[in-house]
Amino acid sequence: MSARKEPLKTLVAAPPGAAVKSVEHAEIAREFAQVRASLDRGSEVGLHGRDRKAPGKRELHRASNDRHVEGRYWSVLGLCEIANFASLRRHLGRARADSLILDVARRITSILPDVRVSAAGRALVELSFERESPEVAADEIERIRKGFARPLDLDGEPHQLQMHFGVAAAPSVEDDEVLLAEAAESALDQSRIDGRLVMLDLSRADLAFDKLTLMRELPRAIANGEMFLQYQPKVHVRRQEIASAEALVRWEHPTRGLILPGDFISVAEQAGEIATLTLWTLRQVIEDQKKLRADGFDLLLFVNISGQLLADADFVNEVCELLAATDAKLGFEITETAVIRDPECAIRHLQFFADSGVTLAIDDYGAGLSSLAYLKKLPAKELKIDKMFVMQLTSSNRDPLIVRSTIDLAHALEMEVTAEGVETPSALALLSVMGCDMVQGFLISRPLGLDAFRKFLADDGHLDSANGQPQSFVRPESFWKRA
Ligand code: C2E
Ligand code: CA
Ligand code: CA
Repeated sequence: MSARKEPLKTLVAAPPGAAVKSVEHAEIAREFAQVRASLDRGSEVGLHGRDRKAPGKRELHRASNDRHVEGRYWSVLGLCEIANFASLRRHLGRARADSLILDVARRITSILPDVRVSAAGRALVELSFERESPEVAADEIERIRKGFARPLDLDGEPHQLQMHFGVAAAPSVEDDEVLLAEAAESALDQSRIDGRLVMLDLSRADLAFDKLTLMRELPRAIANGEMFLQYQPKVHVRRQEIASAEALVRWEHPTRGLILPGDFISVAEQAGEIATLTLWTLRQVIEDQKKLRADGFDLLLFVNISGQLLADADFVNEVCELLAATDAKLGFEITETAVIRDPECAIRHLQFFADSGVTLAIDDYGAGLSSLAYLKKLPAKELKIDKMFVMQLTSSNRDPLIVRSTIDLAHALEMEVTAEGVETPSALALLSVMGCDMVQGFLISRPLGLDAFRKFLADDGHLDSANGQPQSFVRPESFWKRA
């Protein structure tokens, strides 16, 4: 780039149609510094540096509301990203696009004159200010967001900027810059996913923030071996034997302890880590199956596959490669809602898996929108009735009817039925009468780590059917609860 560098103020004030010179990335940062200096000298261009000052007392006490605490103020750190930067760059050319961030900064300062703004990238602006309460801060941020609903005049032409906003606010007493910056970045990640402004108030023990923290930690956790699997058996009711087992992932967090999948699977999905996690799980299951086979237990092992992955061609290819390289006997559990969302793509990918020898099970049946039409198209061999129906089987009037008709429906579609969440002998007895093929639940066993699971298999001696006397799984509750 041979272009002479224009000073910032010339760029911002460029008349319609005027040629705009290239501004390199580092140059923008330098120009922000220049503007900051000019601001300190009293310039009207409101771009500020990152140095955070506490607001004056009068300013802090401007408004009052229930979260306002005398003498306390909230530090706000926001990240604003131009979401459609690439397309704007195509329209405007590289040179003009590279200085777009200055237009963004100008609009922000025109809305909020006391804000401090700095460039954090070609398409990213960092802003900071203080307010007396997070509510007031949120109002200000909302004003900024609305300010971008109007197009920007770029060299005489209106251009609509789409923005992601990630904002974090913390009370002055907890003013930890690193935490605030991390939270703002997490909020921005979330904003990119949700397509809306995300603001985190660090003064609340906010679950949303907790999830965002987990989201950041997850890639490292997978790489560091903090994940492990537990196995929960499925028992074939008529054959009285363990037909298969389901692998359930857990996270042994170094400081938080055990985290169950309910708290991190959706996080992994949102963070785009679910494919990595599931591939890790599949490899681990393949390894564990080898160990079980060495012990003489040749069991089909099921892995839960997040619905989101059924639309992910890269993931499907990787799994097919993995399957081609192993003789493992695997099953995938898939929730029906995932299939309903994009049926054609999901069914095509499910067919690849079925063709590779994977047994497919429809998970959580009844919990979502049941659709018989799609069910018929799926190459699934097993239908798992959601535990919500099974757990109330003997206490509800409606649920036995649903379970009964589901079993009949699945059999008509030539699928076997598994009832999950079987906790009592009475539920097991009823399911058995209804013709349910397989049962899974705390009554039989809680999910167990591999070593405990091997011991469970060995203790029960269910493989010892040579004498034709396999042990019955219908045992007193006290027996089953020990596992
Ligand atoms: P799910 O596939 O429906 O798994 C069954 C859940 O019910 C498990 O919870 C299991 O521990 C629990 N459960 C089993 N028997 C009983 C019972 O008798 N009573 C009750 N109350 N609960 C029982 P968990 O392990 O917390 O897993 C929750 C969900 O997380 C799973 O639901 C599954 O959707 C998901 N999940 C687990 N591992 C993975 C994984 O590797 N990948 C993906 N994508 N999702 C996973
Ligand atoms: Ca499952
Ligand atoms: Ca389930």
